[in-house]
Amino acid sequence: MNKRDYYEVLGVAKNATDDEIKSAFRKLAKKYHPDINKEPGAEEKFKEVQEAYAVLSDANKRKQYDQFGHAAFDNNGASGFGGFDFSGVDIDLEDILGNMFGGGFGFSGSTRRRNARTRGDDVLYHMNLTFEEAVFGTSKEVKIATNIPCPDCDGLGGHEEETCDACHGSGTITTEQRTILGSFLSKTTCTKCGGSGKTFKRRCQTCNGRGKVKKNQTITVKIPSGIDDGMRLRVPGKGEAGDNGGARGDLYLEFSIQSHEFFKRDGDDIYLTVPITITDAVLGCKKDIRTLDSIITLNVKPGTNTNDKQRIKGKGIKNANTLRTGDMYIIFEVVLPDRLSREQKNLFEKLSTTNLENQTYTKFTKFVNKK
Ligand SMILES: [Zn+2]
Ligand SMILES: [Zn+2]
Repeated sequence: MNKRDYYEVLGVAKNATDDEIKSAFRKLAKKYHPDINKEPGAEEKFKEVQEAYAVLSDANKRKQYDQFGHAAFDNNGASGFGGFDFSGVDIDLEDILGNMFGGGFGFSGSTRRRNARTRGDDVLYHMNLTFEEAVFGTSKEVKIATNIPCPDCDGLGGHEEETCDACHGSGTITTEQRTILGSFLSKTTCTKCGGSGKTFKRRCQTCNGRGKVKKNQTITVKIPSGIDDGMRLRVPGKGEAGDNGGARGDLYLEFSIQSHEFFKRDGDDIYLTVPITITDAVLGCKKDIRTLDSIITLNVKPGTNTNDKQRIKGKGIKNANTLRTGDMYIIFEVVLPDRLSREQKNLFEKLSTTNLENQTYTKFTKFVNKK
């Protein structure tokens, strides 16, 4: 039996691109499809076109064909369509034929469930917190407009549920499909009930059948202690309503924390810079400071320098999330007086005649005066 050259069948050149091959196949498949073309011989033509395309659209098979011709696929001398092994030939049927009949071709497994039960979208809400609110936690009201499940129909979209008469409650409709690979039974989702198997006698007037209504809501949210800048908190089930009775999405709060004039934060640790005068630094002193929740008295040792640190254990943030409590770090900063009284100036002048050098000072002087 003389088989026609595949390129000739599709009417393309030997060096045709994949797109040209696909487009040629599309055109011919439409022309000869048995559902459209009832002329005698159309089905044979269609199969011929189909076979040519199956080979030429597959880079490997095309290469074999270019090298060996039809012999490359000759199964035990069988000829024609019947002898061709289609297993492993990957043709995107819907892609090729999906638009042929206005999109309603409905291969099983590729039908989208229009009325499927889907989860609602998450909602992101930005919230500003003061330093204290973030540290100690608080309770906040969130005002958002979201779709909530319709209260009149419980999100279903209608009243008086009954079994769908199109699919008899199964949610799918079985039809015999004629495709380029032959006839087979195809299950598609019932378009009347969207696959739920149920329909309603009356459409809900409140939500117009949508099953959800847009509503301004005030949600009170408990913010745990220890929230940090940029953190997100999930409030389950307070996002957008789902479709067809699907679950609600979540509400996410994203926080911006205002900085504090004195307290700095590093995770759950708190840093506080404490100014001390020259005499406090030299002589040492008792110094009142504020922690997050109390006033305590620090013992400043004689000879305390700028950037000297003191750790106060357990006086950081009690983090409700990690259950860890941070520490507080005191950073000293020796400050100079803004102005001196005459008496103070006299005292400093008197002091300057004494030796105030330390080891570093002396070393440096030696370095400068080195010969
Ligand atoms: Zn409703
Ligand atoms: Zn149905």
